[in-house]
Amino acid sequence: MTLKVVEKGRISTTIHLAEIGDVELSSLKSPNTNAVTKQKHLALLHGKYWIGCDCNNKDTPYLTIRKSINSYHLVNLNGHGRHLKTCSLSTENIKSNEKPVEYEIIDNYISLEHTPSSNNHLISSDECTIFPLLLKILCKAGFDSISSKHNYNSNVLSLLDMGIEGVSFNSKPLPEIFNLGYGHFNKHKQSILDGIHKELLICDVMDEYVDDGKSLLFKKHYTKKFFTSFRFYKSFTQIDLVSNSKTSMCKGPYFVLSNLKDISSDKGKTFIAPSFVAVIPVSSKSQWCVVNNDHERQVVEQLLKSLAWYHDKTEYDCIITKPFYPVQTSIGLCHPDFIVGDAPVKQVIEVMGDNTRRYEAQKLASHIVMSSIGEVSVYDPFNKSKSQQNEHCFNISKMAITKSKFKKEK
Ligand SMILES: [Zn+2]
Repeated sequence: MTLKVVEKGRISTTIHLAEIGDVELSSLKSPNTNAVTKQKHLALLHGKYWIGCDCNNKDTPYLTIRKSINSYHLVNLNGHGRHLKTCSLSTENIKSNEKPVEYEIIDNYISLEHTPSSNNHLISSDECTIFPLLLKILCKAGFDSISSKHNYNSNVLSLLDMGIEGVSFNSKPLPEIFNLGYGHFNKHKQSILDGIHKELLICDVMDEYVDDGKSLLFKKHYTKKFFTSFRFYKSFTQIDLVSNSKTSMCKGPYFVLSNLKDISSDKGKTFIAPSFVAVIPVSSKSQWCVVNNDHERQVVEQLLKSLAWYHDKTEYDCIITKPFYPVQTSIGLCHPDFIVGDAPVKQVIEVMGDNTRRYEAQKLASHIVMSSIGEVSVYDPFNKSKSQQNEHCFNISKMAITKSKFKKEK
C-alpha cells in the first residue's frame, strides 16, 4: 500500500514519477519526515498532480498541493473521497495548515502571493483556476437538473439564493463578494480602488466570444442589435476555457466567472483586473447545465420537448439530471451524460463525442459501469445527416422518458 499520484482531475490513471518512489510518497503521510525533503517532493508534485491516499480503497480520498508564501502543503479536495478517521491526512489532522473553516472552501485555487522580489505581476504557471468554484456554484444552484421550470430569471435567483450560499473564496463568504454581470465593471473596480473590497467575483452568461490571439471579447445579446461586451486580455488574465477539441465549442452560451483584484506590478501603477476567468458552455440561456458539445445541447432540447409533451398529456414529470461530477456506482466510478428518471428506474443517455476507435472503446468500458445505474442508450450523431440526427436524438430522448414513466407505473 502506498500513496498514488494522478494527474489533476484524471483519477483513473496512476502516474509513476521517476523522481518520487513509493517510499518517498509514503513519507508524505508521516508528520516527522525531514521538512526539506518533504517540501522538495511537494514542490515537484505541485501544480500538476493530485495525491490519492491509501487509507480507504473504497472511496479513495484525493489531495492537492497548495503553495503558500514559503511552503507547500497538502489540502484535501472536497468531493473526492474520504479518509478513514485514523489517517494522518484526514481533514481533521492536517487542518493546522489551514485557515479556520467556516465555509466550504473551494480548493485548487492559489491566491497569487506578491513577493517583493517578483517583478512579474502576471500569472505564474501555477495551477491557478477558479473552475472548481464555477462548477460548485452551478451545481449548488441546481443547474445539473433539466427542467421546464428553469428560465433565465429564475436561474439568477437560484444562483444568488442557493448557488453561492455557504461557499467561501479566499476566506471571503461568496454573498459578500459575488456579483452578476460585467455591466457594472467600473463600479466594482472603484470599490477595490477605494479599499472597500480586496477581491470580487463577477459572473455572467455570455452568448459568444471572439479570440483575436491577444484577448477574448465576450458579447451578450439582449436584442438583435443591442449587446454588451467584455474583453479579457491574455497578458494578465489566465483564461480557463473548457473546450472539447474535436467538436465545435465556439458556440455559446457560456457561463463566465472571473475574479477582480489589484494585480499591480511593483512599478507603482495600480492595476485592477481579473487574474482568472473560467468559461464553460451551458445548454442555453434558460438551462444552465454544463454541456460538452452541441450534440448534448440537442439532447437537452429534445428531452425538454418530450417532457413538455408528457406533461401536457398526462401531467407526468420526470427528473432529469446532467451530472457535473462523476457518479459512484456499485461497480466503479463513471460520468454519465444524462440520467433520466429517479430510483429505482433510471435510464442513462450517453452522447458520443467522437468517432475514433479509441474513444469508442473507452466509452464502451464506461457504459458497462453506467449500466449499473440504469439502461444505457447511446446517441451517436456521427455519419448522420442533420435530419437523421434529429430523429435519432428525438427517439432516444422520448424513449428514455417513456420507459421511466411506464416502468415506474408497473
Ligand atoms: Zn487517508
